[in-house]
Amino acid sequence: MSEACLFCRIVAGEIPSTEVLSSDRSYAFRDINPQAPTHVLVVPRRHVVNSDTVTAADAEDLADLFLLAQRVARAEGLVTDDTDPDVEGGYRLVFNVGRDAGNQVAHLHLHVLGGRQLGWPPG
Ligand code: AMP
Ligand code: ZN
Repeated sequence: MSEACLFCRIVAGEIPSTEVLSSDRSYAFRDINPQAPTHVLVVPRRHVVNSDTVTAADAEDLADLFLLAQRVARAEGLVTDDTDPDVEGGYRLVFNVGRDAGNQVAHLHLHVLGGRQLGWPPG
C-alpha cells in the first residue's frame, strides 16, 4: 500500500467511501462527483498506477476488476439482457490515462457509468 495514495487509503478504510461491492482483489465504491446516475469506481486492492503501466503480471487483478465491474452493472440494473445489444440499458467502462484524459488519481480505477443515454464521442 502507498500511504500517499488516495485510493489505497480508501481500500484500507482510512478514508470513507460508499461501498457498492467488493471481492478479494477489488473494491467498488461510488464516485464522489458522479457524472451519471450510476458512477462507480472499481479499483484493485493492490496499488497499480494506471492502465498504461499494467503488465501480464497484473492479469489476475485485471480479470477480477472486470468481473467486479460486471457485477456492479447488474447490481445497478444497467443490464437488462446481455445477449441482445439492442435492448434497453447498457453502461460505459472508462480508464483515464494522463493529463489529456483528465486522470487525477494515480491508482488504477475503472469508471462504471450508466443510468442515462451517454454521449459519444465523449467530451
Ligand atoms: P480520474 O479522473 O479518472 O483519475 O478519476 C478520479 C475520480 O475519482 C473522479 O471521478 C473523482 O470524482 C473521484 N474521486 C476523487 N476523490 C474521491 C473520493 N474521496 N471518493 C470517491 N471518489 C473520488
Ligand atoms: Zn494506491
